[in-house]
Amino acid sequence: MKTLVFVEFEAGKVKKSALEAICFGRQIAAGPVAVVAAAPAGTDFAPLGAYGVDQVLHIADPGFDMPEAQPLATALAQAASQLGADAILLPKTSLTDATAPRLAAKLGAAVASNVMAIVDATPGNFTVKRSVFTGKAFAQTRLAGGKVVLTIKKNSIDVAEGNASAVSVETFAPSIPASDHAVKRISVEKATGQVLLPDAEIVVSGGRGMKGPENWGLIQDLADALGAATGCSKPVSDMDWRPHHEHVGQTGIKVSPNLYIAVGISGAIQHVAGINSSKVIVAINKDPEAPIFKVADYGIVGDAFEVLPKLTAAVKNLN
Ligand SMILES: Cc1cc2nc3c(=O)[nH]c(=O)nc-3n(C[C@H](O)[C@H](O)[C@H](O)COP(=O)(O)OP(=O)(O)OC[C@H]3O[C@@H](n4cnc5c(N)ncnc54)[C@H](O)[C@@H]3O)c2cc1C
Repeated sequence: MKTLVFVEFEAGKVKKSALEAICFGRQIAAGPVAVVAAAPAGTDFAPLGAYGVDQVLHIADPGFDMPEAQPLATALAQAASQLGADAILLPKTSLTDATAPRLAAKLGAAVASNVMAIVDATPGNFTVKRSVFTGKAFAQTRLAGGKVVLTIKKNSIDVAEGNASAVSVETFAPSIPASDHAVKRISVEKATGQVLLPDAEIVVSGGRGMKGPENWGLIQDLADALGAATGCSKPVSDMDWRPHHEHVGQTGIKVSPNLYIAVGISGAIQHVAGINSSKVIVAINKDPEAPIFKVADYGIVGDAFEVLPKLTAAVKNLN
């Protein structure tokens, strides 16, 4: 299948979630893939060749730095038509959640979200494995018809280099009707200078067991030693111990890092709903009966105020 992947850049570097989608695309295409990249002029696309990308349609229009779903869907539909792509892949984000169905409607394609693996790439029998019910179950979904639009769940595909390709780059200027700009973002305040929670490979998260915001240095020290993002349980952000963008769970951010360390978090079902697709969960809790130990791969029964400094020191010794 001719495969097209939507790729975003951050600070001049391709996002990991985009590389995951590219690697997934290689499996469907059984060969090189094309990408549509929204990136500033002068961006170096050559490194994408190592991951099996042979063609880049480059949208340099600054209006696409942080696009809205409607114009992005229009742009991707035009790119797919130009290249004759029949599989269009997007890393799963809140933006692409809104973009994928619009794109599918424009292309007359079948759409599936939260895709983790390909089961059968044969056109007509195209079947994918998806994460459903906030990661509590998997579904196999068959997509009828010729074209498919997929959003790829973060951290579900291993990023690996493939057969290297020479990358041809073409400027792509989609024609966006004024009606696509009915919704316009006025301003964005982004957390900077830290590892962002949804993209993090390691998360250190604190709960009410940390007793108060004055103790968060212990969480931050471990996170810094591991190169991790920091998260928290809902009550912690409700009490303003931590900012709301760190709240993990059913009603907060859903994370799927390689390692999630829950410190002084009881493991309520609403918290677990946001972490259960983490690859490895480590719990630190002084109560051996805490429910978090039921979902943890490794558990430390102990007082966080004693365990955290020792763990941080041990990690620093490894570096
Ligand atoms: C509709 C709804 C939606 C919700 N959504 C979310 C959500 O998205 N995310 C979320 O997190 N919660 C959510 N909640 C709240 C959830 O039900 C729990 O109340 C919450 O997760 C508990 O937070 P906690 O584990 O930090 O605190 P607690 O339940 O108070 O647990 C604190 C833990 O710390 C341990 N502890 C205490 N002292 C120490 C110490 N010194 N060292 C080590 N361990 C210690 C205790 O043994 C305990 O297990 C939601 C609730 C509702 C009703």
